[in-house]
Amino acid sequence: MKVFTNGCVSPELLSALKRILVPNRTMFLVNVNQPAQRTDGEDGKQQAFFETFSGLCGLSCNIYEPGMDFGFLIDHIERYKLRRKIRMGLAHPLVGEPNSHLDTSSFPEVARRIVEFVSRCDRHGITVSLDCGFTLCDFTDEQLGIMTRAQTSMKFICDPIIDIGPDLRIWACLPLSNVAPRPLAEFSDMTAAIVHFRELVNRVTDRHGFYGLYPECRTCKYRQRGTCVGGYRTRAFTGDGQCSSATVVKKP
Ligand code: SF4
Repeated sequence: MKVFTNGCVSPELLSALKRILVPNRTMFLVNVNQPAQRTDGEDGKQQAFFETFSGLCGLSCNIYEPGMDFGFLIDHIERYKLRRKIRMGLAHPLVGEPNSHLDTSSFPEVARRIVEFVSRCDRHGITVSLDCGFTLCDFTDEQLGIMTRAQTSMKFICDPIIDIGPDLRIWACLPLSNVAPRPLAEFSDMTAAIVHFRELVNRVTDRHGFYGLYPECRTCKYRQRGTCVGGYRTRAFTGDGQCSSATVVKKP
């Protein structure tokens, strides 16, 4: 079981988790904010979490501004002896409320920084995976080659992953957390939940005629081949009902 968490749990919950977890069947993906955005409370709780579950924890980082320096992730892995794996995710627009997210104009710069970071990780024996919503054409051929050599996991897709809230309601993914959440108990298993939310996302995407973030996506051969779905589909939900070329953004 892989649990996506920020690791900020109370000492009581940490002790309870330590008692009940089956180590070889559990992995944590712990999301860590960059140092400037961290609070003392966050630091202390995550430190306790890493010290308790070090070998079970990989790291996750959400990119929500273009100038982020990811070096602190390597420091964390070395300091706490964590799993040598890092998931990088793009912060997408959140449907229904404002949030910090990246503008597509910054994607090429973010791509450059990611590839630079992947090379550093490679030298430290750390592998990186890119989460959904990345766009294939914002990476150059050379950058894709560097990531391939460093065994970076990358799929240019956008598909429900299913988030479970503390109130045991579930939704497609964080950016769609306000869109038709359902009680977990309604589904027989995770596959049934994924099918439900995939149908929902596909329905809205089709209804709005959404074909990608850029005008070029409409006729892109990589989209036709299924190599890239055209970036995140949140825009299909945030559009004014017409997700046509009027609502897509110019490719930088
Ligand atoms: S589908 Fe769109 S985002 Fe993906 S490679 Fe083609 S033009 Fe770029």
